[in-house]
Order: sequence, then structure tokens, then C-alpha cells
Amino acid sequence: MSRLWNFSAGPAALPQAVLERAQRELLDWQGCGASVMELSHRGKLFMGLAQQAEADLRELLAIPENYAVLFLQGGATQHFAQIPMNLAAEGASADYVVTGHWGEKAASEAAPYVKVNLAGSSKAEHYLRLPPRETWQLDPRAAYVHYTPNETIHGVEFHDIPDVGDVPLVADMSSDILSGPIDVTKFGLIYAGAQKNIGPSGLVVLIIRRDLLERSSRPMARIFRYADHAANDSMLNTPNTWGWYLAGLTFQWLKEQGGLTAMGERNTAKATLLYDAIDHSDGYYRSPVEPSARSRMNVPFTLHDSALDADFLKASEQAGLLALKGHKAVGGMRASLYNAVPMEAVQALVAFMKDFAKRHG
Ligand code: PMP
Repeated sequence: MSRLWNFSAGPAALPQAVLERAQRELLDWQGCGASVMELSHRGKLFMGLAQQAEADLRELLAIPENYAVLFLQGGATQHFAQIPMNLAAEGASADYVVTGHWGEKAASEAAPYVKVNLAGSSKAEHYLRLPPRETWQLDPRAAYVHYTPNETIHGVEFHDIPDVGDVPLVADMSSDILSGPIDVTKFGLIYAGAQKNIGPSGLVVLIIRRDLLERSSRPMARIFRYADHAANDSMLNTPNTWGWYLAGLTFQWLKEQGGLTAMGERNTAKATLLYDAIDHSDGYYRSPVEPSARSRMNVPFTLHDSALDADFLKASEQAGLLALKGHKAVGGMRASLYNAVPMEAVQALVAFMKDFAKRHG
């Protein structure tokens, strides 16, 4: 059994070189006679790994010293709730700009902890475009502004960081972190579930401006408080050591690939190839998303006749292309093109699509 081209939206493909290294090191990590999963997180060896992973991430994203980097658990979903607990005082409100399924989820999970102000939304347009910045109703007294730079299901992406003035900007970057360079200083808080561009599920990377760590005055258990995690180097309790290790290997791999500028160029080239194939298919395939809002990471597309969907999926699997079925909320197909999906995979997909269209004209 060989590895197939994997277009899964998440958990998603990991770089093959990372998996091969993990395989080589599985039984005996760094000559210590045990797997990395079998070591104390407080031991010298693991602490070294943890520090290196953080240093590499800081280098990749140019994260300044006045930001803490946390390696947490609970998935992005837990942080939908934990962010208002930490950033909003009792009775405060926060602005949510909702451009798809995950933004909706973030707002609804936050609602028990903060007054959610729906500051902008493209729901009426079925999340096929972004709400123009001038239509947003931002409140200058909001505790923060939350948005989702890339909506994994709807396939819409912000290609600029919105200017929200002095209110801290909070971004769920679960499906676009590390896909290209970003200016971290424009954000108060960035968080991402690992299972798309970082590593396995069960790990969350959270980057927070240090002045925001002391914000919330409300009572909560220490395990929920980001300040406590920061003060304990993300080892308030036992972290996901295996996830942290694989994330560290992915960061090293990204550095070897030329860093995020190179990754960004590669991701743009991959997405351009696929969108061009869709747009030049004489309507056989269609991308429903407005071109200026199209995601480089998640490309939903439909066939001109949905009766062909099942055949397309079956034939694509037979051709070695995995996980192209679209999310049930939008139907059709979706190809996720995260960092670990190489150009050859997209070329194989495009060749398959052309051939399928010819055979099922
Ligand atoms: N936000 C975004 C943008 C996502 O794509 C996902 C998962 N697909 C989530 C949040 C939820 O992540 P988790 O399942 O790790 O809680």
C-alpha cells in the first residue's frame, strides 16, 4: 500500500518527510531508549524539544517577544469558549465577523461568556463572499473583534488583515496558519487547531499578546486561564507531547522548504492551477465562491450535474485521490491544499478532472 494524494480538510495530510522521520525515531528517540511519547514532559529531553519547537515557530512567523506562544489542547472549539473567558470581563461585549460555518460556531460557543455583537456577516450571501469592510458595525468598546481568516467549509479567505483600530483582533487560523507569511503584530490573539497545517489533532497553538494575558478578572479554574498556561510554559498539566513533537518536526520541515514566503508562493501556485482548471472547464466544474474571496487552502467545487458526484468520487479514489467529498453543508467536492499537499497532487487532480469531464461529457 503506497500513500495516496490526500485532499482531506482535516485531520489532513502531513509532510511525508515528517512522518518518515517520526517512524525512524518512534522506538528510540535521540538514543534515549524510549519513544518521545514515553518520556516525562518535565524531563530535560522533552523540555529541549518544546523550546526548540517554540523557537522555530517564532522564527517562521516572526513572532515578537511581547507575544506568548502556547501549546494547548481542546481543539479550536474549546478556545471558542475560552477566548471570551480570558479576554472579556463580566458583562462586556465582543464583535464577531462571521463569514462561514466556523465563525458561526465561534460566536455561538462564546455567547455564554460575552455579549456577542454580530458586527458583520455574509450569511445572506450564503457565505460565498466576504462582507465589505465598510458594512461592519464595529463597537470601539468591544473586548475584541473575532474573525475566521479562512473558512474551511465554505472556502472563503481574507487576503488582507482587516483594520479594526485599537480593539484587539482575534483570528481563528485553524485552516490557514503557516500557509504564508503574516504580520503577527496586527493581532491580539491567533489560535489554530493543529490538524491541518501543523500536526495531528489534539493540539492547539495559541499566540497571544502578553498584555492581554491579565485581562479577565472573572473567576475560573487555572486550566482555563491563558496567563497560567503562559507562566507554566504550557505545562500546567501534561501536554500533548506527541502532537508537540510532530508540530516541531513540521516547523523544521517548513524551515527546510524555505520558510513561509516559499510556502505562500507554492500555495498560491497550487490553488491557481486548480481554480484555472475549474474556470476553464466550460462550466463542467464550478467554483461557487466569488473570485476575490477564494481560499488557497480549501477549494469547494461542484460538477455541472450533481448526479455525477458519486461517480466522480468513486473514480477519483480509484485514481489515488483521497477525500474529495465536499462538506455536507455545501455539497459537491472540496480539495484541501494545505502545506503538505505537493504540487504533484494538484497536477494529478487536475489531470483526473479533465479526463473525467472527457469521459462523462
Ligand atoms: N475552526 C476552523 C476554521 C476549522 O476548520 C475547524 C475544524 N475543521 C475548527 C475551528 C474546529 O476545530 P476542532 O475540531 O479542532 O475543535
